[in-house]
Amino acid sequence: MIRLSGVEAFEVLTRLLAQGGVRALEPRKLHLGRICDSSGWTLDRVLWAVMPGPASYTGDDMVEIHCHGGVAVVDTLLERAVECGARLARPGEFTRRAFEAGKLDLSRAEAVSRIIEAGSRCEIRAAARALEGELALELELLRTEIVSLQAEIEAGIDFPDEGLEDPCAARCDELCRRMRLFSLALRRDAASGVPEVVLSGRVNVGKSSLINRLAGRQVAIVTAEAGTTRDAVSADLEVEGRRIRLVDTAGEGDACAGAPAREAVRVARERIAKATLLVRITEGQDGDSREGIWVVNKIDLWTASQRMEMGRRLQARGALLCSALTGEGLMGLRAALASRLDEELGPAEGIPVSVRQFGALQLVVSGLERAAERLREGRVELAAEDVQTAWDGLGQLGGETVEADVLDTIFSRFCIGK
Ligand code: GDP
Repeated sequence: MIRLSGVEAFEVLTRLLAQGGVRALEPRKLHLGRICDSSGWTLDRVLWAVMPGPASYTGDDMVEIHCHGGVAVVDTLLERAVECGARLARPGEFTRRAFEAGKLDLSRAEAVSRIIEAGSRCEIRAAARALEGELALELELLRTEIVSLQAEIEAGIDFPDEGLEDPCAARCDELCRRMRLFSLALRRDAASGVPEVVLSGRVNVGKSSLINRLAGRQVAIVTAEAGTTRDAVSADLEVEGRRIRLVDTAGEGDACAGAPAREAVRVARERIAKATLLVRITEGQDGDSREGIWVVNKIDLWTASQRMEMGRRLQARGALLCSALTGEGLMGLRAALASRLDEELGPAEGIPVSVRQFGALQLVVSGLERAAERLREGRVELAAEDVQTAWDGLGQLGGETVEADVLDTIFSRFCIGK
């Protein structure tokens, strides 16, 4: 589909269409038409529709041309549209215009790109929640609350003698509590895009075997020879609806030597530092589960009594027992991955927020927390600044910064002139 947006959209369409083109611009109806080149040769038979502004996606006059889906035909029609006075849109320009026309706030605009980028049904559903405005609605409610809080605090500053009661601190607390609850419903993006789960452990503990097992295909080379994995090998897979990147690193330890091995260890350290989650793999008892998930591999080699005694002891210390060879324990590992990622990034089906959006949310929470503190200390002016910080955070989320709103609300709620 080719979309045109702007004041001249309908004129361009008229020039594109053969034989008088657009006679009756009946909005939002599909019409059959022919697009011709400058000498009148038909380029394609199309369906077209017009959406007059402001009731269109961008808010401008818009045209949609449904043409055949080949690469050359689309390119040719685009070229023809440019000949007829259009220009190519910049990346995201339609949604950007929609945002600027106030058709959607930033949280919904961002959801549009998430829908497009989604790699699974689960991601689509989550992005759709944001697109449907769940995030925008909550932000709108918070905005109203914060504006009225701001107004009350400022009224306190302006009229310190009127002895207005100061319930603001409690209101700040309440808002913080709500924000924290709200955050629980959000799925945060990992800083690196797809969350990276890095497998670490000494050479030959079975990292490559495990990644191959989890990915269900051969990603990394497995040999009995130590140090076969030199580069960080990665595989994208879905764990309970969440896309993750498993990264297999070169093993630690001195079994491999030389410059390539040293480089491999350096790369591994880098990936570990960036990881959303670490999976530490051992063969025996030398591990713990404080830094991530601890997997004890190769339990197929254990005797029955080892399973009974050592197995129980290790499990009590938080270890997951498994065998990359037989697949035993891998369901547990998947479940552990899912729940740790939930902890780390919020629920897989949660409304998705970017690192930027989450940072802005943190700004709101910390601003409100500080404001509550300062109100309790009686430092009202400073509290007003902190609420302003929270407001700015909200503005970053929704994409607007409207100080005039605060004033409007002050005037509407308090009779300043009296
Ligand atoms: P890495 O160096 O940590 O990547 O380890 P690999 O995955 O290359 O495995 C090293 C050796 O251990 C290979 O011979 C694998 O077949 C073997 N291995 C890996 N996992 C298991 C397991 O669960 N049980 C047994 N018995 N052998 C395993």
